[in-house]
Amino acid sequence: MNPLRSYFQDFIGLFFPELCAACGRNLFKNEEVVCTNCVYHLPVTNHHEDPDNQVAQQLWGRFPFEQAGAFIYFRKGNNVQKLIYQLKYNNRPEVGIRMGRLYGAVLKRTGLWSLPDYILPVPLHPSRKKRRGYNQSECIAKGLAEIMGIPVISDKLCRTENTGTQTRKARYDRYENLKEAFVVKDSASLENKHLLLVDDVITTGSTIEACSLELLKLKNVRVSIAALAFTG
Ligand SMILES: [Zn+2]
Repeated sequence: MNPLRSYFQDFIGLFFPELCAACGRNLFKNEEVVCTNCVYHLPVTNHHEDPDNQVAQQLWGRFPFEQAGAFIYFRKGNNVQKLIYQLKYNNRPEVGIRMGRLYGAVLKRTGLWSLPDYILPVPLHPSRKKRRGYNQSECIAKGLAEIMGIPVISDKLCRTENTGTQTRKARYDRYENLKEAFVVKDSASLENKHLLLVDDVITTGSTIEACSLELLKLKNVRVSIAALAFTG
């Protein structure tokens, strides 16, 4: 880094220290977005080591997939909930990139996951993306892609209609609501590929299911699932 810029950042940091997105304490100079202590204590699922993990079990029988898993557990009040909040509602896209890099390192290290050809973030409806300024799943995908050395494709799988707020709807309604909400553009470019679908949080899996069913209509496509967090 330019020494002058670094000096300037240190100077600014005296007044506005950068804070850990999880615990809120001041970050050290060598720490990025999330402090070392919070990274060390992340409630990891180790799903990547178990093909029959909870996410896979939740998706079994709904659509065929190669591998599925999530990185960390989302619990009410835990640091993961705080990180997701920062990522989705507090204009901190860098949280997604940082967490995606951490997840990517784990997936790469184990070597148990066969490498996909492309990484596809679950799309947001354009109006919501415009409001938020970014797609949080795309941020996670970018971090994963950087470490795994796989390209991100974010303009082929698209959301067609605003499905509104999901949280208060029952699972069946939610699924009905999501039907026809995803379309694939330029499908030839995805044919014969293994695609890694990336989402922020998996709860019922209905969004992932709707995306996958759309992608699986394409010729000889295989799908894998990686979510940052799992609520189960
Ligand atoms: Zn922290």
